[in-house]
Amino acid sequence: MNPGRVFLFGLTSLLAVAWAQSVADDIQLPSENRTPVDLERELKAPWQAGGEIVVFASADRAPRAGRLVAPPADATEEQTRRAEHFSLARKLNLVTQPRVAPMALPLSEEQVTLLERFAHTDAGAVWFRAVADDTLRLFNQGYLEYDAARWRAFLEGGPRPRLSELITGRLSETGLFSQEVTVFRIFAFEGMGSQAGAASVRMGSKGFRCQFQLSGDAVDPFAILSHEFGHSRYGDPKSAGHPLGEARTVARYENPVRLRNGFPPRLMYYLRIESGRPQVTREPLFARLLAWRETPVLRLAELDPVEGLYCECLDVPGKLRDCLQLTAGEAAMCELRWVAVRVETSVQTDPDKR
Ligand SMILES: [Zn+2]
Repeated sequence: MNPGRVFLFGLTSLLAVAWAQSVADDIQLPSENRTPVDLERELKAPWQAGGEIVVFASADRAPRAGRLVAPPADATEEQTRRAEHFSLARKLNLVTQPRVAPMALPLSEEQVTLLERFAHTDAGAVWFRAVADDTLRLFNQGYLEYDAARWRAFLEGGPRPRLSELITGRLSETGLFSQEVTVFRIFAFEGMGSQAGAASVRMGSKGFRCQFQLSGDAVDPFAILSHEFGHSRYGDPKSAGHPLGEARTVARYENPVRLRNGFPPRLMYYLRIESGRPQVTREPLFARLLAWRETPVLRLAELDPVEGLYCECLDVPGKLRDCLQLTAGEAAMCELRWVAVRVETSVQTDPDKR
């Protein structure tokens, strides 16, 4: 390389760095720790996707990502931000190949389309923003692999890439060996409905039911997805699988979406108790329910907000009976199959909405 070119190269990259740093004043880095999503508050805000994601050069010319502070100018800009979040998720979080995560089946094309539509709704925008913020954190810590040629081209005066164009969707070498990295995954499983863990949302290969099994309430798939995100680390990861946590998840994360989509709120959550393997819980109310046979007179009044316990008995399989009405003799032949728990509905008196 001749000295003139070296000089020019040095100058343009210096300019790029200077520019990037001047920009960095109105760029916000994601907070170091996650805060649980307050969905109702977010849905009342004028916009849901958060600041536009931009990449810029750090002092050592490595790429960093943050968000512009300015709100979107209009709905089109908001949709562009939502689309970028989904592009990031598609690259990093959506499982579309086999064997990416243990037990994870790849999502079908229809499932990806449903997720994309969800990401463009107000509630979906809130959740996918939380997922994208994780991506920013991982990226800024150097845990995500990126297209080095693309980045160099930008430093040399080329167009600024979007973060979704820059990341490859794989972990960097540092990321692969770090104990801190848990990429959030959305994947499929064999079966019906959906599930969640702290670091995953799973969609059944057989799709959603049209109605909830016991209540008969109509299912709103977007509200269900929001419910599952509510069980993840972006909401309340301790809420899954016990009556109070589930009812709270419906109240906080599912019903607000149902109401927006024109569905009536769910007033009752029916928790299914799998037969066979005994359920273990630390949640005191749930523990009392599971020990329903051992307490001589278990009274519903003391179990608020539980509405009922439903048992299946050996003599009439498939028929549900009120567990608390069984005699001790009958109870010995019956198993607790469902717990009905009331969902709090304090909403509906919103002074902002007329
Ligand atoms: Zn749930």
